[in-house]
Amino acid sequence: MSQFEDQQLLHRRQKVLGSSTPLFYDRPLQLLRGEGAWVFDADGRRYLDAYNNVPHVGHCHPHVVDAMCRQAREININTRYLHPLIVELGERLTATFDDPLDVVAFTCTGTEANELAIRIARTHTGNQGLIVSDWNYHGHSITLAGATTALPAPEAMARHARTFAVPDMSRGVSAQASLAQLEQAIASLKESGHGVAAMLVDTIFSSEGLPDVPAGWLNSAMEMVHKAGGLLIADEVQPGFGRTGEGMWGYRVHGLIPDIVTMGKPMGNGHPIAATVTTRALLESFGQQSLYFNTFGGNPVSAAVGLAVLDVIEQEGLIAHARVAGAYAIRRLNAIIGRHPVIKQMRGRGLFFGLEMVDPVTGEPASAEARRVVNRMRDEGVLLSRIGHDDNILKIRPPMAFGCEHADFLIERLDKVLGEAR
Ligand code: PMP
Repeated sequence: MSQFEDQQLLHRRQKVLGSSTPLFYDRPLQLLRGEGAWVFDADGRRYLDAYNNVPHVGHCHPHVVDAMCRQAREININTRYLHPLIVELGERLTATFDDPLDVVAFTCTGTEANELAIRIARTHTGNQGLIVSDWNYHGHSITLAGATTALPAPEAMARHARTFAVPDMSRGVSAQASLAQLEQAIASLKESGHGVAAMLVDTIFSSEGLPDVPAGWLNSAMEMVHKAGGLLIADEVQPGFGRTGEGMWGYRVHGLIPDIVTMGKPMGNGHPIAATVTTRALLESFGQQSLYFNTFGGNPVSAAVGLAVLDVIEQEGLIAHARVAGAYAIRRLNAIIGRHPVIKQMRGRGLFFGLEMVDPVTGEPASAEARRVVNRMRDEGVLLSRIGHDDNILKIRPPMAFGCEHADFLIERLDKVLGEAR
């Protein structure tokens, strides 16, 4: 496949999808096949996938693909008929949560899961206000776009939304300063008459750049929100399904139990299935005043896929694997970053890392250099991305099939690219 043919495809895409539909990389990449932690372009050239959390248990995992095909041959239908698989998935999924989180509603996307969580919180509390971090992404619906800060959005911040900074010492935000901002957000929502329905946070703070938040900080934040009459919604789209290596759910790292948990991307290994998990009391109080159903969310094929993903996580011991392979990668990354003063800090846990890049002379975020590194790593056959307020934190978040040999491959190339004269 020549560059010319890629250009032609790009042109056709822009013509039919519009030119503002985003693509990764300065030179967009056409990927046609995937297997485990590897993806292959139109010429059959392989790339190590160190970016995608959608193919959570590995690209095209045969157990998941077989389960999907088997069920697609039987029936796929609206979720308002009885079918054993949606019940089985609900039972298996809720069994991974702490009491009293024991009921689930299925959706197709993380956005929908967060929307439903907000509706449950609003119905239960009688309040409308939503508190989010000041560099968040939770979805593309109208409610969420009005509270999103990490993407350019023409929508003004919604009148019911307030933000606060999460602790991050490299941005000079202490736990105390963060809680003071939260206090202000709560006071402002009360004053405006919206009140506090919920605080919605990604429990690994991925858009924010994986800051290592102090132990006990999220507990204090949750207490303040509860005292104001609101609920805590934990968005597990990023840390969920074992990525942290410290259990299935990211909230466990903080030693608390949220009121509502949402999940998505990794749940279907590429198939669109997502969910909102909460307590029976909350879901029932919502159900008494409202009605929720989702034509596709948790349909028999999606449920078969969701079950197969849970099988693989269990059978292949992927949570322990994330811990072991993650610790190995951190050791090896630490061994090279001393050679590259542009790397200020490494963050993350399990199989999710961030390398913060700053100009060693000025101390300013090295956003352009991070962009160069991401594009050069693509040439070297490794897919990465960037996160953080200044897009200066290299984002390494591979499928969980990523092992020590893949870490070696990545780190050798990263060492080379970081060392290139600019
Ligand atoms: N929450 C978080 C933390 C996310 O990262 C994303 C997607 N990147 C979403 C919600 C939205 O999920 P979806 O694209 O499935 O709607």
